Amino acid sequence: MNQNSFRDVIKTLENGVLDNAVARVNSATEADVRATLSSVPVSFDGYLALISGATDKIVGAVEAEARKLTEQRFGRTINLYKPLYISNSCINGCLYCGFSRDENIKRKTLSIDEVRHEGETIFAEGYRNILLVAGEDKRSVPVSFIEQCIKLFKKIGFAFVSIETQAMTEEEYRRLGSAGLDGVTVYQETYDRKIYETVHPSGPKKDYDWRIDAPERVARAGIRSVGMGVLLGLGDFTRDAITLASHIKYIQKRYWQTAVAISFPRIHATPTGFELVNVISDEKLVRLILAMRLANPDSLLTLSTREGAKLRDRLFGVGINQASAGSKTNPGGYAQVEAEDSAGEQFPVVDDRTPGEVVEALKSRGLEWVWKDWDVNLKQVT
Ligand code: SF4
Repeated sequence: MNQNSFRDVIKTLENGVLDNAVARVNSATEADVRATLSSVPVSFDGYLALISGATDKIVGAVEAEARKLTEQRFGRTINLYKPLYISNSCINGCLYCGFSRDENIKRKTLSIDEVRHEGETIFAEGYRNILLVAGEDKRSVPVSFIEQCIKLFKKIGFAFVSIETQAMTEEEYRRLGSAGLDGVTVYQETYDRKIYETVHPSGPKKDYDWRIDAPERVARAGIRSVGMGVLLGLGDFTRDAITLASHIKYIQKRYWQTAVAISFPRIHATPTGFELVNVISDEKLVRLILAMRLANPDSLLTLSTREGAKLRDRLFGVGINQASAGSKTNPGGYAQVEAEDSAGEQFPVVDDRTPGEVVEALKSRGLEWVWKDWDVNLKQVT
């Protein structure tokens, strides 16, 4: 079959292949999980066993393998970055998001001077890896403004600049790549088309197909890193975990020049009061991270401050090798605007430790922190 897009793979999955894989997950045993550990990196079958409930029985052994592999490939280091929210204005109505157009929050879009102030504040703390975040609203944040911000961050001295905003055209990604963009984060949220359409009732984001093709457009535009993931809690855990792994493999095979970074955003409480149908337990989240590490030895695995300190500390170095720290999820949160009159936030930060406290926690686990681009880090440890 000549496949032109991951959507063609989805059709195959929907044609019984996904049901079959789910059945294999549901019937996996402790012996199956043990068997995968003798052949690392694991195959797709191994991945299926690892995301199953059988992993919980020997999770310590699986964690030990994941830690060993992470250390072999990346050393005992964690890459720290900070998100910079430049706007909470959005024309989409995602039911789970505090920036939804239907939420009555204080809206703010930073001016270029405010972006500079925030960027310089983050740079002064030591960070060299920055993620620009914005809702989707081209009137408030046109592509030309994002381009201006990227050039500004590069001028300030950031080694790695990525964005997390609306899915763009290949041409727009190419234009931002020329400005110095290093990475794009674009989660599918859920691969379940029905749930996707329910939780994205209005705005351009409700177009499932446009969204699912976005990582390919990023790669075709020559951007060197694409961040992928699902918003854990929207769709069925097993079905989304399998489809996400297929999507990642697809991108890795067809666009080997673009690195895939994998993130694990999980919905807890939302500012919108959105009710979760598919609650994801800590055990499931841990399984997914371990399975992704053991199947993707060279990928950056990221865990944000959506998760609490205890779980993050447990997973640092055990699969996870990139993390945000000291994050604010409201525009102007770092330098100019104090909490009292701050603009609305996208989601509550759970791990609210300062960067210094996170660094201390890493040190106490024998890990080193790095503030820079991973490519630079690799040169340091080899
Ligand atoms: S998830 Fe993104 S697109 Fe949806 S409302 Fe929030 S900021 Fe807008």
